[in-house]
Amino acid sequence: MMSRGLDEGKIKGILVTHEHNDHASGVGVTSRNLSLPIYATSGSLSKMERVLNGNEQLITIEGGVPFKIGPMEIQPYSVSHDSLEPVQYCVMSGKKKIAIATDIGFVSTLVTERIKGSDLLVIESNYNKDMLQNGSYPWAIKQRIIGREGHLSNRNAAEIIFNITRNGSPKIVLAHLSEENNRPEIAEKTVRELFEKYDKKLGFLVIASQQEPTPILEI
Ligand SMILES: [Zn+2]
Ligand SMILES: [Zn+2]
Repeated sequence: MMSRGLDEGKIKGILVTHEHNDHASGVGVTSRNLSLPIYATSGSLSKMERVLNGNEQLITIEGGVPFKIGPMEIQPYSVSHDSLEPVQYCVMSGKKKIAIATDIGFVSTLVTERIKGSDLLVIESNYNKDMLQNGSYPWAIKQRIIGREGHLSNRNAAEIIFNITRNGSPKIVLAHLSEENNRPEIAEKTVRELFEKYDKKLGFLVIASQQEPTPILEI
């Protein structure tokens, strides 16, 4: 955040999606250091003991039950992922809407409903199927990733982006790319080729990196 000139004092809370380490490991320490409340489902909280020490403000939320943080309305929605009571979030402020959809297993009707009409969509584009299938992961893990409680492939992401895009909206951030089973240029190409094939207008697209912060986007 500092490298992008953002003020930590403006953060009002931490939204937890699920307890997996790549999402929850820094939650406790960040909450304690910056005195920020943690919003999470009871399922997530029950699995986060290793990162919490009792000195955090915990706020239990529920999929499908919206709540407010300042002027923003937060809409958590349930997703299919191999963790306890996982959710993803839409954030609404004024007429603008941001939808987050990583770790969603597959694109359910609920996911489609929630991310429709967003101005910015952060969606996972986790793996290239050929790279995953021919890669070094054990068979069981490959099955987990491909399965309905795993992750979206580049192709899955491209299709849902194609289906919900209207007049070049929303802006898209491809996120949660596997370092082992994907490459940013392959993920991007998968989306662009689908739009080119049907001559449909794709809006702004950026690929999130695990090393670098994503540029600040205005909506
Ligand atoms: Zn996960
Ligand atoms: Zn994850």
